[in-house]
Order: sequence, then C-alpha cells, then structure tokens
Amino acid sequence: MSTLLSNQKICGKSREDFLAAIGAFHGWKAPGLVIGGFMVDLAQELIGPGVETDAVVESRHCLPDAIQIFTPCTVGNGWLKILDWDKFALCLYDRHGLKGYRIWLDIEKLGKYPNLYNWYMRLVPKKSLPLELLLDDILAAGRAILSYQAVTMTGLYQREKKSETGICPSCKEAYTLTQGDRCRACQGEAYYISN
Ligand SMILES: [Zn+2]
Repeated sequence: MSTLLSNQKICGKSREDFLAAIGAFHGWKAPGLVIGGFMVDLAQELIGPGVETDAVVESRHCLPDAIQIFTPCTVGNGWLKILDWDKFALCLYDRHGLKGYRIWLDIEKLGKYPNLYNWYMRLVPKKSLPLELLLDDILAAGRAILSYQAVTMTGLYQREKKSETGICPSCKEAYTLTQGDRCRACQGEAYYISN
C-alpha cells in the first residue's frame, strides 16, 4: 500500500511538479533522482523549517541533482559536497549547529519492491524494467524504502575559502597559487591541445 497520498507534497511540490522539476533539470526522470527527492523531502522534514542547511551526498550519481533541485545548496556555491563513494545516501545538516540527518536507501526495505531491488542491484537488464514501472514503484514506496539517523558532523562541514590568485607565467591565465608556480594545465595536466 502506498505510504504517499497522491495529493501529498514532496519537497513542497505536488507530485506532478516534483517530477517535472526533475525532468527539467536532469534531462529525464531518472529513478535514482526521484528517490533522491524523497530523501531530501524526509531530511527537510526531520530538520524542520528555518534552519540553514548544507549538504553532503555519498554518490556522484543522481543525488547531487536532488540536492541542487530541491535545496539552495549547489556545487557552485560550495554548500554541497560530493563524496565519490557510490553509496546511495545523503546528509542535510544545520551549518551552524552541525546537527542533521543522514538518509539512505535501505536495501533491506527495498526487498519488498522486487523491481526496485533488481534495478538498484543491477540484477536484470535495463530494458526489462521500463521507466514507468520503476517510477510507479518509487512513488508507491515513497519513504518506505528509506532509513535515517540523526548525526553530528565531524568533517566536511567547512565551507571552502578561495586562496590567493596569481597569473600563470606560461599561459597568462589566472589560477590559484596553492597549485604551484604554474597552473595545473601548464604542469602537464591539460586535457586539450590547441587546434
Ligand atoms: Zn598556465
């Protein structure tokens, strides 16, 4: 049975607007991002209104976009930090008090939803699990496939400060002096050649 009524708000949006926002930002309604939206929704409710939250995600896939769509935290403003751990978990926390909640996709709970389990664990070919089927299950499951814990941040909570800027003597472009006496590209890390 669905734990989410169709008229219930997700991240403050109707189900239709929630899915539309995901499609508009990400290019398509990726199942992982829809689950990520429910994770953000749960974290926001646990933390409550009026708290200035920063975020950490534990995967480079889908979850950064869930944070960027449904919270003010982005990669660009530095309030979102991304761990390349490929764990389907995220954390929203009070940036001043450092208390928050970590939410994760709970594989045990996913067992009640065989299609979602098979999709996440990559047990069946992608084409045998049409998007609509997955989305129906995700919307039916809502928070029922998530778990959470209250946490206090012990790392990653510092907002990065920019360090001193200089001019690279080789390419004449501005770069951060902590990288050395030339920019990373001129130190041999360039990913391009001039045509
Ligand atoms: Zn240079």
